[in-house]
This record gives sequence, C-alpha cells and structure tokens, in this order.
Amino acid sequence: EFKSVGFIGLGAMGKPMVAHLANKLPIKSRIYVFDVAAQVVEELCEQFPDRVLGGKNAKDVAQHANTIITMVPEGSHVRQVYLDPNTGICTANISNKLLIDCSTIDTATSLAVKGHITKNFPSTSFYDAPVSGGVVGAVKGTIAVFLGCAETDPNLPRLTQLLSLMGKQIIPCGGPSLGLAAKLSNNYLSGIIAIACSEAMDMGMRSGLDPRVLAEVYAAGTAQNTICDRFNPVPGVYPEAPSSKGYKGGFKVQLMRKDFSLAVDMAKRVGSKNVLGEVGLETYDGASKDPRCRDLDSRVVYRYLGGQED
Ligand code: NAD
Repeated sequence: EFKSVGFIGLGAMGKPMVAHLANKLPIKSRIYVFDVAAQVVEELCEQFPDRVLGGKNAKDVAQHANTIITMVPEGSHVRQVYLDPNTGICTANISNKLLIDCSTIDTATSLAVKGHITKNFPSTSFYDAPVSGGVVGAVKGTIAVFLGCAETDPNLPRLTQLLSLMGKQIIPCGGPSLGLAAKLSNNYLSGIIAIACSEAMDMGMRSGLDPRVLAEVYAAGTAQNTICDRFNPVPGVYPEAPSSKGYKGGFKVQLMRKDFSLAVDMAKRVGSKNVLGEVGLETYDGASKDPRCRDLDSRVVYRYLGGQED
C-alpha cells in the first residue's frame, strides 16, 4: 500500500508533511511532489534523494501516484490544481485513485471539485481533509485532521493509515465537505475566543490584576479554554505561547482572517445567525492590514485592540 503518493502544495504546512511521509512510508514507496515554486520541489528532492521525485505539474503527479494529497492556500488554487484544462489532476487518468484535499477552503468549491471528479471518474474517491495544529503541528506530526467522510466509509481505514503518518487525530466528520464545515466552525470559535480573551484580560489588568493571576482564574473557573491558556494573547502569561515570543511562530492573522471570513459566509449560506461574525471579521480584517500585526500570530488581536504590553 501507498507505493506511490503524490503531494501538491509544499508550503509552510505541505513541506513538513511530505518530510513525515518520506521518513515513515515503507522503503519502496515513492513520493511525487509539485509546487508552482520550483525551489521547494528541488529542496525536497535533495533532502530525500531516494524517495521524493519532482513532477512537472499536478497532472504529472496524478499520473504517477495512486494516492494524491493537495495542500494549497485557497479555493481558487484548489480549482486550478484539480480542474485546470491543461495541467490539472483531472486531466490525468485518475480512475480508482484516492484524492485528499487538506486545504482550508469553502465547502461549495470542495463539493464542486468532488462533483466533477465523481462525474468523470466514478471509481475515484475525493475527500476534504482540512487540518488543525499549525506549522508546529505539521513539523511535529501532531496535526488533527477533520475528514469529510462517514465513520462507515470503506476508505476510512486507508485514509487513517496514511494521514496518521502526519497527524495524531483523524476525525471522520460525517460526509462530503463536513470536514471543512467542522474546521471553519472550529476556527470561528477559536477566533472569537481570542478576541474575548484579549478584552477580558485587558479589563482585568487595567483594574489592577496580574495577568498570570487572571489566567489562573480562568483555568480554575468557567472560562477555561486553550486560547486563554496555552495561547494566551497577553505576552508573558504563558512562556510557550506565540504572544511571549513576539507573536512569532503561530497561526498567521491573515490566515485567521481567511478562515473567519469563510466561516461567516458558511453561516450566511446555511441560515445560521451569528451576531459575532461581523465584529470578528472587522477585527481580523483590520489586524491583517495593520503593520504592527500583519504576518504575526492571530492572537496579536490583543495588540490590535489596544491591550497593554510591557
Ligand atoms: P503556504 O502559502 O505556506 O503554502 C501553499 C503552497 O501552495 C505554496 O508553496 C504555493 O506555491 C503552493 N501553490 C499555490 N498554488 C499552487 C498551484 N496551483 N499548484 C501547486 N502549488 C501551488 O500555505 P500553508 O500555510 O501551507 O497553508 C496551506 C493550507 O493549509 C491553507 O488552506 C491554510 O489555511 C491551511 N492551514 C494552514 C495552517 C498554518 O498554520 N499555516 C494551519 C492549518 C491549516
């Protein structure tokens, strides 16, 4: 199994994911990779000379590999990778192949790509499989994967076997595009908590409380959650949090803005009332454009909202 795996999109997440595959797949397996940035393809081929092979384009990778993973930024890139009339995955003969899209995109695009594949290649399986855990998780191999499939899906064991090489928790979310719906719902919640935690910390600190005492109170009380704890937005509260390292090395605020906006669109489409959506979107949009926040961990909203820093 997994004699030939393809991987398209070798950025902050994709590159370390490929490294795990190269280190953990059986010795005879080959990994065919492609990225529009040629340099990263070269780097991986040099790093794993016997295992990783560079493809000319997505079609070329799909031609050689039986299982193909994609990890690109947005819906437009996913469309291009799969549906481009000259170089897309769907221009290769992908009958019976297993396709896994790990990108965080809108559910409609994912369903459209799946629809196209099912119509043209009925024997081919396509799954949405967005991930959580950030670049650190990708490097450590501890990401969580939210799979757009049912618990009874016959491909689940195979998917779990492969994805477990890169992550530690693989959660089947029920059916097509529901991995994405779960991921967007999660990031909406985590984005809102970061804003709420920033405001709550700031009002407490301005009232004279030590930020570490505040974090201890939340952890012991009803506000207990990971963002106020391991990812506390106030510098110095939790030494390992990105905020304590100049907001470096976390989940970029622009990515949070993208995911948050996708979540708000999804809420509208399904008729879900979300009063916090507008506030959150405005906040992450502003922070993404603010030179004091751009490119930093999304919990930098604390700074954007005027929180006190030493
Ligand atoms: P990235 O920008 O670092 O990497 C994306 C890569 O895709 C780039 O190398 C780019 O050249 C390549 N690419 C773009 N279009 C392409 C095409 N048509 N063909 C081939 N390659 C193409 O992004 P990333 O941080 O690796 O994120 C990828 C996805 O994972 C996004 O949807 C993101 O939201 C999601 N995600 C990111 C994180 C994170 O912390 N970075 C965490 C969870 C999920």
